[in-house]
Amino acid sequence: MPFELPPLQYAFNALEPHIDATTMEIHHDRHHKAYVDNANAALAGTPWQDSSVEDVVTSLDQIPEDIRGAVRNNAGGHINHTLFWEIMGPDGGGAPDGALGDAIDATFGSLADLQAKVKEAGIKRFGSGWSWLVVSGGALEVMSTPNQDTPLSEGKTPILGVDVWEHAYYLNYQNKRPAYLDAWWSVVNWDAVATKYAAAV
Ligand code: MN
Repeated sequence: MPFELPPLQYAFNALEPHIDATTMEIHHDRHHKAYVDNANAALAGTPWQDSSVEDVVTSLDQIPEDIRGAVRNNAGGHINHTLFWEIMGPDGGGAPDGALGDAIDATFGSLADLQAKVKEAGIKRFGSGWSWLVVSGGALEVMSTPNQDTPLSEGKTPILGVDVWEHAYYLNYQNKRPAYLDAWWSVVNWDAVATKYAAAV
């Protein structure tokens, strides 16, 4: 089965005013779709064409060298954006409770401390990439990746990620990536993040 573009589970304008509807529509329907189409094109006719995207991004060293770069960028883009849509939503923001909230406090000190680390990692990412909260060996970590690299390729499980490619924010925030990173917390669906945390530890 080729990869498929997952439908967005909320309206394009559901994240306004923090993320505008035009950005969401272009980002989902064009950017994410292009990653899906390009990953499928690269993998077609190879032994990997029916593999899951998780298997593909955790096996990049086994992907034929002539398509490895295209697969890394586009399968990575597919799995990264699939998580991104899932961990945002209307009625987002606030603070996580339960085991995730406890782990954030124990690891970083407070939610505000975690948010500062994610923002710093996003600002320091030169060019395009992502800032992540991941589970690694059962522990929470903040990290960033360039381009469409996924923490899964490094054996770490992303549970929250913010896209810092300019296509994610430029219409509304222009060059103000820090302002986008501050506003972004208002659309985070912590219940979805907590579900991913529970599955990863
Ligand atoms: Mn993107």
